[in-house]
Amino acid sequence: MSDISIRITGRAGRITLQRPQALNAMTYEMCLAIEAALDTWRTNPAVDLIVFDAEGERAFCSGGDIAELYATGTQGDYAYGQKFWADEYRLNHKIFQYPKPVVSFLQGFTMGGGVGIGCHGSHRVVGESSQIAMPECGIGLVPDVGGSLMLALAPDRLGEYLGTTGARMNGSDAIFAGFADVYVPEAGWPDLIAGLETTGDVSALDAAAITPAPGPIQNRMGDIDRHFHGRTLGDVLTTLRQDDSDFARDTLKAMGRNSPLSMACAIEILHRLRGPSLSMEKALDLEYRFTARAMEHGDFLEGIRAAIIDKDRSPKWQFADMLVPTSAVSKMLMPLKEMALKLGGTGMKIGFIGLGNMGAPMAANLAAAGHSVTGFDVAGTTAKGVAQAPDAEAAARDMDVVITMLPNGTILRDVTATIIPAMRSGATLIDCSTVDVESARAVAEQAYAAGLLAVDAPVSGGIGGAAGGTLTFMAGGSADAFATAEPLFDIMGQKAVHCGDAGAGQAAKICNNMILGATMIATCEAFALADKLGLDRQKMFDVASTSSGNSWSMNAYCPAPGVGPQSPADNDYQPGFAAELMLKDLGLSQQAAEAVDADTPMGARALELYRAFVEDEDGRGRDFSAMLPRFERRGRG
Ligand code: NAD
Repeated sequence: MSDISIRITGRAGRITLQRPQALNAMTYEMCLAIEAALDTWRTNPAVDLIVFDAEGERAFCSGGDIAELYATGTQGDYAYGQKFWADEYRLNHKIFQYPKPVVSFLQGFTMGGGVGIGCHGSHRVVGESSQIAMPECGIGLVPDVGGSLMLALAPDRLGEYLGTTGARMNGSDAIFAGFADVYVPEAGWPDLIAGLETTGDVSALDAAAITPAPGPIQNRMGDIDRHFHGRTLGDVLTTLRQDDSDFARDTLKAMGRNSPLSMACAIEILHRLRGPSLSMEKALDLEYRFTARAMEHGDFLEGIRAAIIDKDRSPKWQFADMLVPTSAVSKMLMPLKEMALKLGGTGMKIGFIGLGNMGAPMAANLAAAGHSVTGFDVAGTTAKGVAQAPDAEAAARDMDVVITMLPNGTILRDVTATIIPAMRSGATLIDCSTVDVESARAVAEQAYAAGLLAVDAPVSGGIGGAAGGTLTFMAGGSADAFATAEPLFDIMGQKAVHCGDAGAGQAAKICNNMILGATMIATCEAFALADKLGLDRQKMFDVASTSSGNSWSMNAYCPAPGVGPQSPADNDYQPGFAAELMLKDLGLSQQAAEAVDADTPMGARALELYRAFVEDEDGRGRDFSAMLPRFERRGRG
């Protein structure tokens, strides 16, 4: 297609808009071509990042190509426009949640549909000529393409001002408003792009960035906040009309050109978005409620007629007196029910094998976040929102990502021997079980040989962390594999550390848990000794938790009942983290130490003690901190 160039250059997936004669306005075909490229590059290990740019000096992209919409809408065909917007919003959403860096270079005009592709990536670059705006109210739409999310997040009431006036932001103002990230003088852009292509490394952007002087909009924030504080369009107009300043006069003039119904709905959308449930999905859903009705019930067709068909610039808006009844706003923003925007299919297709205590809530969290998850467990267990596959192979076939959460390395090797041949080339295998380093590396080798990406990503945080989506992931594997997995870690957890190559995640997990096993034993034996020395446990805690004896075992998971924060000790040592799981992890650390000839005497002793506790005493089924009552009962003999 000559309107757009899509290619891989070096490490970069490259997209160049090349319709400079039309200010790079986006056609439907361009939109679909970009989406197809992003889908392919998502799991292509040759692509480290995406770089968007555009030909010509005047515009990155001035908006969507709306002539076709007018032609169909005036024939009474509203379905074409509805499909166009739904497909465009799906692309905007994909860019917003893309697992690899997306860099865009925004010279000249970036407006409307241009914001939708240029301003949702991870690294948005502006320069001297940049002018960014959401002017949709001028053609009878509302700020859309996910722009309402940025407007709702902009400082104070800047969102209402930008959305209703369509005011243009220069580069500095765009950064201030949250539509851009870095300002780089445009003369440096070609070299910067060449560097990104060669290295795939976005850190060059910060190195090239300069801090621009505050823009004119930022300097007017006092006026903006004061006048746009109202709940409705009427409130805003009332305060502006009572003010005879230049700002109020210019603002009223700009708003006087736009559709009153659109402006009233734009303000309402921002009010509905702000608050705890603010999300890109909600923003697009509300925008689509309006745009899906805009041809039939809104001012959209009249707006285009006046702007680009008859070019008389005298649109005959509904509610031209600016008195827009609440009922008209509600009608435009009512839920669309079965016609509602469906972003489904934008998420990844995920297979999840092992739906036990940990796996089931992790899979449910992925499904709740909009991914299409298919699960399998030999025990027949299921998880909320997760489709059930008849076997492991079926849960892995054609998936973008397959996650395993299994009891041990032997089972993991059995399962991966079945699923790896069924997975499609370029897909990613993420193992979250705690297993031996050797099994993790063997599975990764097998996956690489089959053309897959692989990450070992054991977790910390227990069943509570799995249910609450607050796990910590320690990951091993290539940077590409980690980048693909990271958005999923963000859903299932609150922190993910890329520890190194294959096996590094498991190595970090067993080293961490070796420290944990040894410090828990040391903490328990210190409390038992303190008891025999007649020291009060609370005093012991007060000293050790704030002295060099402090550790996670002492401070966060104190093994003494009634002392320190709530822990399994306060619940008769019900696990928490079972002693036999600690025994398994200490076994893994000693197995690894053996393999690489590392001297780990404390780890070895901790293993002996937990083995005796679990296998010969009453430790099985108790929390690993129940070592304290064990020591209490014993003497030195
Ligand atoms: P679990 O026993 O509850 O779950 C494991 C699941 O795997 C079971 O449902 C089992 O039926 C299934 N399974 C076994 N063989 C299978 C096969 N061949 N195909 C498909 N499914 C199979 O264990 P969990 O507590 O969920 O732990 C899972 C992993 O996470 C373990 O490696 C564990 O060490 C680790 N881990 C657990 C915790 C925790 O607090 N429970 C914390 C961190 C890490």
